[in-house]
Amino acid sequence: MVDLKQNVQYVKTVGPTKVKYLNNLNIYTLGDLLTYFPREYEDRSNIKSIANIQNGEEATIEARVVSEVNINRIRKNMTILKTVVEDNTGRCIITWFNQTYIKQCIKRGETYRFFGKLIKEVNHFEMNNPVFDEIGKEKNTGKIMPIYPTTYGLSQTAIRQAVANALELVKEDFEETLPEYLLKEYNLAGIKNSLKEIHFPSSKNNRLEARKRLVFEELLTMQLTLLELKGKSEKNIGISFDKNVKMSDVINSLPFKLTKAQLKVLEEIDNDMEQIKPMNRLLQGDVGSGKTVVAMICAYKAVKSGYQAAIMAPTAILAEQHFEEFKKILEPFGIKIDLLLGSTKAKKRKEILENLVAGKIDILIGTHALLTENVIFNKLGLVVTDEQHRFGVKQRETIIAKGLNPDVLVMTATPIPRTLALILYGDLDISIIDELPPNRKKIETYAVTKRMDERVNNFIKKNINEGRQVYVVCPLVEEKEDEEQESTLEFDFEDGQEYQSSQNYEQKNAKKPDLKAVKKWTEIYKNEIFPEYKVECIYGKMKQKDKDEIMENFKNGKIDILISTTVIEVGVNVPNASIMVVENADRFGLAQLHQLRGRVGRGEYQSYCILKYNSQCGEIGRERMKTMQETNDGFVIAEKDLELRGTGEFFGTRQHGLPEFKIANLFVDMPMLKSVQSVALKIEAEDSGLKLEKNEKLRKLVDGKLKQNIPL
Ligand code: ADP
Ligand code: MG
Repeated sequence: MVDLKQNVQYVKTVGPTKVKYLNNLNIYTLGDLLTYFPREYEDRSNIKSIANIQNGEEATIEARVVSEVNINRIRKNMTILKTVVEDNTGRCIITWFNQTYIKQCIKRGETYRFFGKLIKEVNHFEMNNPVFDEIGKEKNTGKIMPIYPTTYGLSQTAIRQAVANALELVKEDFEETLPEYLLKEYNLAGIKNSLKEIHFPSSKNNRLEARKRLVFEELLTMQLTLLELKGKSEKNIGISFDKNVKMSDVINSLPFKLTKAQLKVLEEIDNDMEQIKPMNRLLQGDVGSGKTVVAMICAYKAVKSGYQAAIMAPTAILAEQHFEEFKKILEPFGIKIDLLLGSTKAKKRKEILENLVAGKIDILIGTHALLTENVIFNKLGLVVTDEQHRFGVKQRETIIAKGLNPDVLVMTATPIPRTLALILYGDLDISIIDELPPNRKKIETYAVTKRMDERVNNFIKKNINEGRQVYVVCPLVEEKEDEEQESTLEFDFEDGQEYQSSQNYEQKNAKKPDLKAVKKWTEIYKNEIFPEYKVECIYGKMKQKDKDEIMENFKNGKIDILISTTVIEVGVNVPNASIMVVENADRFGLAQLHQLRGRVGRGEYQSYCILKYNSQCGEIGRERMKTMQETNDGFVIAEKDLELRGTGEFFGTRQHGLPEFKIANLFVDMPMLKSVQSVALKIEAEDSGLKLEKNEKLRKLVDGKLKQNIPL
């Protein structure tokens, strides 16, 4: 058997540079590459006559070259090649941009195949940047071509080649991953064929069959894993917290009145906490709905019942913020709270660990640092994880294991439609805060292009002069990206439309977006646009100490404009900040934009979200911008996100809090998900724990899933 875990570098044509790019796409092993599925397909199999093609249609033509290839250098970085081709029905002018080498490949009088978008002019046709093949040596035409999500630097051709070689490498040597009886019962294609057909379909029908099988496997694995987790926790005997400890004591001490929704979820949680069965609850609530205070009140209940509580947040900034808020409300009740971060100094850490195990700390707040082995509680009764999608199942289990079947509350701002949540989080009960605290002003959202820069900047100045503060978020912080960007900018055209259409087909998914690193943006904001204001930047790779200092200064109003990567995405609370500017907003997923927008509008001031997008971002990009402008409702945005994500746009991983699927799409595959759910229940009912021989392969799939530390 071929080892699917072997490094992807052993695949033919994959050299060190390509390995790096593939790694950027989360492809590390042969198996990763084989399961890196195309996001769409281009049907180049139908060969058409020129005159029969609709204006704007993408098609393959077979045509003879009837003129010399003409080269025209219009400026330093711009050459245009033109030639005329014809078939029995018509003539077509073909143009290539910046691909001088083609002159050597195309000979007058010869016939070739060309695939591209045909444009009808008054008395002729045009095709820009077609791919082409010599007759008899077809490589790019005459078949259905996969199109992969990719990054700059890695062309479609390169990925296709790598995948083809990977398939070649495993050949017949590939073990079926689903049990025979399931394949038969549900009429599913075998794994070998499915992989071949999903990458290089021999027909649309075969591709759909392959997809069906792969989606089935992926969803079934998820469902079986969930059922297993749920089964485990239900059998446990947990803690029944003290009925005489009243949550209302804290509630009455708060500086504000809780919303009805907050009170309702607290009642649900209170009830859970008093039961002997361990609580396993998901608390969903849109950004700013007030989840922290709910966690705080639960922690109070646990502590006053004689237990400790652990609060785990995904970032140090967030953990510190929770620490401050918890202290403010709970210290007056004599509750001892401490904070443990990765950056906590050895001496302080030692002290915390000693106090924790001695039971002198009631609530420990922290980051992943809480997961460390030497963090030992005296009597851990409640575990809260904030922004749960940032933690994997394994991490949740690790912290839970530090107590004896403690109650668990996981909080998320990802508004998943309820039907979906029930399936996805089958192992959790769900509470929803579906109401924002009163007097919140609606955040006004504007999607703007470069042309509006000056107006936007003036608007920012006006707000800062009124005492407000501003976030500017931009993607990525890599120097190298920056250098590469310089060279592509030279390439750029003045006119966006032209730039778009001049992209070679093979490159259209590898187009380098106009990304500027956070440092560069800081320079621009600091020195060019806002020299009279205090501008600072913060990003993930900075030292913790520096990050903390900057956040502190921002909170205290010592910084006017904070430029950052998405480190401030979750949870940060600075009520005086009233403008969120997102640079390259079309590069972010909807759910993430919604999270970012949630950083403003947290105080009494009218707040604004300004989404700067690239006018060339394409239709889907524009549709995302439109959605953000039209609604503030996280649930609507989540639905739309699901729908648009079906288009396979690559935004990196784990930005949305929904499970990452390699092929399934929760929007289109909802019916499949429902039927798979009942299949999973049936299997579980017959063979809980998957111990039967016939389910051996399923056991393997579930174990594999459990090993990956990702949200299910
Ligand atoms: P999230 O649900 O996004 O984590 P937070 O818990 O950070 O939201 O709450 C956002 C802000 O709203 C905080 O400043 C918090 O103190 C405040 N808040 C929470 N509940 C209420 C309420 N019922 N009335 C007024 N303000 C509230
Ligand atoms: Mg929060």
